[in-house]
Amino acid sequence: MTLPAAPTDFTLAEARDAVRARKISSRDLTEAFIAAVEDARPLNAFVTETPERALAMAKASDARIARGEAGPLEGLPLAIKDLFCTRGVRTTAGSNILSNFVPPYESTVTQNLWDAGAVMLGKTNMDEFAMGSSNETSHFGPVFNPHRSRALNAKLVPGGSSGGSAAAVSGSFCLAATGTDTGGSIRQPAAVSGIVGLKPTYGRCSRYGIVAFASSLDQAGPMTRTVRDAAILLRAMASVDPRDSTSVDLPVPDYEAALEAGVKGLRIGIPKEYRIDGAPPEIDALWSKGAEWLKAQGAEIVEVSLLHTIYALPTYYIVAPAEASSNLARYDGVRFGHRTAHAHDITELYEKSRAEGFGAEVQRRILIGTYVLSSGYYDAYYLRAQKLRSLIARDFTQAFESCDVLLTPATPGPAFAVGEKTADPVSMYLNDVFTVTVNLAGLPGLSVPAGTTQDGLPLGLQIIGKAFDEATVLRAGRAVELAANFTARPMPWWRAA
Ligand code: GLN
Repeated sequence: MTLPAAPTDFTLAEARDAVRARKISSRDLTEAFIAAVEDARPLNAFVTETPERALAMAKASDARIARGEAGPLEGLPLAIKDLFCTRGVRTTAGSNILSNFVPPYESTVTQNLWDAGAVMLGKTNMDEFAMGSSNETSHFGPVFNPHRSRALNAKLVPGGSSGGSAAAVSGSFCLAATGTDTGGSIRQPAAVSGIVGLKPTYGRCSRYGIVAFASSLDQAGPMTRTVRDAAILLRAMASVDPRDSTSVDLPVPDYEAALEAGVKGLRIGIPKEYRIDGAPPEIDALWSKGAEWLKAQGAEIVEVSLLHTIYALPTYYIVAPAEASSNLARYDGVRFGHRTAHAHDITELYEKSRAEGFGAEVQRRILIGTYVLSSGYYDAYYLRAQKLRSLIARDFTQAFESCDVLLTPATPGPAFAVGEKTADPVSMYLNDVFTVTVNLAGLPGLSVPAGTTQDGLPLGLQIIGKAFDEATVLRAGRAVELAANFTARPMPWWRAA
């Protein structure tokens, strides 16, 4: 094994093997990443840094390694999206209303990671309550993409809502990170930040202890620099959980073992409805290239139809706000979170706590959600959206009769400038055009860095699979990764000169 020069350049797999072989201690690795996190503060990727906890965890890891008791992620420093409750560590969901919330319990996914030996570097910035596609709705300010355009001198968004995690992985401030994806929040930031992001099948990972946005769509997943790393991290995150009745009791496969099997004989579906007007020509060009790469490796390309795709965004932007308005009713200033100092009675306490605690995008979603659920509008909006959701899911079932996975673009464009789309929510919502369908249908979707724009900005391709067939999704993703040979790394412009 030839090791990279700096420990922060390790992939998760390389670091795992090096720690296991005692070529580097968890302590040395962790110290290198703590320094990188500090160095990266101008990017605003972390809401909370936990260096003391990281060092204590690294020490315990080194002791376990010395005793020959290493877990699958032993001693490996990770970043955690600030939507996962972490016992004793502030968990904000990117919101003012939870800015002082310290959970007394741990999410199942993060508990699984600590049980596997992983080390926590800190909690990453995100759009408020995971609502957004650019990380600009965070109460803690925007995150900046480590990548910059060769043509433009602007700071770019890292995508969202898992923007802090995407930036932290892309800039090598952690080995890997967790994200959550309700309508694209793992895959879209991964694509525009030049990293790998996987939204697993609904039910693959437990949602227990993850601050809820839209419960029928939310799913946790890995954000990493390679497809292999996503396979490793997913295995550690996934489990059935008695505390989440929607988590599924299926064995968690060794995704890494199946990774290099190749795509010979695999049928790759190309959904024609994903060719959208107005998308930059480089998106379509990359998509065609992706199909050629897979074909050259022995896959068969078939055209398929996902007829109801045009309804996906309106459906999602009814279902998700409806569920959000219900989930966010719990933030009333009484039990936990921000409480106004200016209330004279209980009604005013609710109103002012919520008005002070929630940002504009969250308030917009609550208004939309309450509206579509209100009597008189329920049938016209919510019920119709539910019917369309079934049709969208059925499209996938039918498409999978003639193919094994689907290949699509991950986003309609590269990272955009901070502030460019904040004035127009609809243009922001359009970023999710290729990702929301997958959440509505509950399927696994993987974004793999596959190329760059003329100006050097990362673009991703998406592989969509059958329910609980992450193994095939990862295998096809690995084939794309091999052919794409994506090497664009950000220049550390944020470092003090
Ligand atoms: N961007 C989408 C939204 O704003 C998806 C967010 C997510 O997946 N959490 O709702």
